[in-house]
Amino acid sequence: MHTPTPAQLLQVWERGGEPSAAARGLLLLGCSCDDEAPVDALAAMPLGRRDARLLELRERLFGAAIDAVATCPQCATTVEATFRCDDLRLPDADAAASTLEHAAHGIRVQFRLPDSRDLLALESCGDAGAARALLLERCVLAAQHGGESLEPRGLPHELQAQIAQAMAQADPQADLQLALRCPDCGHEWQPLFDVARFLWQELHAWALHMLREVDTLAASYHWAEADILALSPRRRQAYLELCAP
Ligand SMILES: [Zn+2]
Repeated sequence: MHTPTPAQLLQVWERGGEPSAAARGLLLLGCSCDDEAPVDALAAMPLGRRDARLLELRERLFGAAIDAVATCPQCATTVEATFRCDDLRLPDADAAASTLEHAAHGIRVQFRLPDSRDLLALESCGDAGAARALLLERCVLAAQHGGESLEPRGLPHELQAQIAQAMAQADPQADLQLALRCPDCGHEWQPLFDVARFLWQELHAWALHMLREVDTLAASYHWAEADILALSPRRRQAYLELCAP
């Protein structure tokens, strides 16, 4: 992994203006790769592995501390909590096997873990039921009862739920939950933490801030954008202080 330059980060932000959350996750993943990793390979990375990489990128860009803000579902108090990237990183995020098996009701099912390609495909689904069915169709590689092959959609509902649970258990990094406690009413809950969405929000705020700095310095010194972005943060800050009114 390498740390993207400010100019590269701004390009990522620019390209992620329209796309979906899944597409933005892929853009972030791509800019952290050492070489020009093929987009197909990145898109086929299980979501837990993607999220472990995005956590590492987050730490390189914005530091290890993550400030989470949530609303207590019980009493609507705003709850703030600070986590470290290490708290959210599971030790075996890279260990998930590419093909997994589950057997029940005399049916043996082979399936793979969901990845960014699946997230992109699921975005066109209208409701949760349709999304679940499509995910199963995409991720189930084979299902057999005796010597007979079964269609994923034809699997018993209980078995479908078990496969979804087995997927989550095999790739826990993709299903991160925070542990929050409300200081006012004592309610405890575990909201999901979506690192791709969180990092994109941070990148968006960073990009707007950086463009304001470029604007200020360009107006004062008439330097090109590329030259301003190439300045070290310390030198950029020093010039900003010099030209402050
Ligand atoms: Zn509360």
